[in-house]
Amino acid sequence: MNITTKILIWMTAGLAVGSLINNFAQSNTIIQDYFVDGLFHVAGTVFINLLKMLVVPLVTFSLICGVCGIGDISKLGRIGIKAFALFLLSTALAISLAILAAVNIAPGKNFNLSQGMPGLFTVPEAPPITQVFIDLVPGNPVAAFAEGNMLQIIFFTILFAISLLMLGERARPLIQGAERMNEVMMQIVNVVMSIAPYGVFALMAKTFAEQGIALIMPMIGYFGVVVAVLFCHATGTLMFLLRLLGRINPVKFLKKMRTAQIFAFSTASSNATIPVTLRTVEKRMGVDNSTAAFVVPFGATINMDGTAIMQGIATVFIANVYGIEIGIIGYLTVIGMSVLASIGTAGVPGVGLIMLAMVFNQVGLPVEGIALIMGVDRLLDMIRTAVNVTGDAVVTMIVAQSENNISMDVFNDPSAGTLEPVQLPHHDAAQN
Ligand code: ASP
Repeated sequence: MNITTKILIWMTAGLAVGSLINNFAQSNTIIQDYFVDGLFHVAGTVFINLLKMLVVPLVTFSLICGVCGIGDISKLGRIGIKAFALFLLSTALAISLAILAAVNIAPGKNFNLSQGMPGLFTVPEAPPITQVFIDLVPGNPVAAFAEGNMLQIIFFTILFAISLLMLGERARPLIQGAERMNEVMMQIVNVVMSIAPYGVFALMAKTFAEQGIALIMPMIGYFGVVVAVLFCHATGTLMFLLRLLGRINPVKFLKKMRTAQIFAFSTASSNATIPVTLRTVEKRMGVDNSTAAFVVPFGATINMDGTAIMQGIATVFIANVYGIEIGIIGYLTVIGMSVLASIGTAGVPGVGLIMLAMVFNQVGLPVEGIALIMGVDRLLDMIRTAVNVTGDAVVTMIVAQSENNISMDVFNDPSAGTLEPVQLPHHDAAQN
């Protein structure tokens, strides 16, 4: 059985166990204490930490190899500009589609506020846009690495790698060292992925034990529109872009993308999924490290199509609930704000709500309205993160194709990069 099927089965089992606990064992303290807050919580958090642990070293070594592999600074700039433009384009398309759908379907028009009176919602701190540019440059790279600040890490590492190139022959051993380190990190990814089914099971069981499906009912209109548009964007708009701009077969792409999507869904974090996304586009789809190492982590931080979709629909929904007219200028502001907000915030769970507070402030909607949609946000977060990660991979593929940095033989081979069972080294082998 391949790893994706195995993860899918365990994921479904986790969902079922969690939902059963939510329905029948809410007040059973043994189940709650020993399983939900005990076993599932510990196993799920350990699994997420295993992934997060890999992100910073993997991105660093991989990016050094990538930049040195490109070897040409103008080409690096070209890849950066192409990726950035495509990220903006796909996010703008996503949110436009969302607003168009929401305005026509009008979720929240007949919403009775007494169904779910907004509770207290304290507005989270959102960074001003100017600060985003200042924060690109780390005052202290060690702090940037320690905090896992992705944009700062990318900035420093690219500068570091360019300097290695400028040093020429003398820096060669360091570049070779980075290449070996990159291989080691990729091997750790394989090890972590081999235990993923159990981690995913624990995450699912915990989430669904806490988040009953019944929570969705009063919000079904909003929830349904978000899920439908997320689906249309992932299988429609993004696949259209992939076909049109990358001349790549969307069906094969989606098949190979499934594992990364499941990781994104169960962790609700594009950042934590970086190791799996990188592995997928490089080993399974044949993208050269020189493009993938740069575009994937960049995308995980600044490209959030799914989050933008949620924001567009949430804006229309809350405006309808409160009976506030936003008008065309308001919608255009929402589009601009969402695109900018996704650049300034990292891909971690729940960040979409912080961005939404920024958007609401800008168009004059009551920020307390966010409390209304918070109940269903965890589930939507999981789904939209899978879409975010799909967008990152699509852009990586298009850029790689345009730079001739992709092996179509690998892409077309259904078994390329599938996970081999992890072989622990034999003692004798180490001695030889
Ligand atoms: N969890 C999302 C991500 O990591 C961000 C969000 O929408 O909250 O991509």
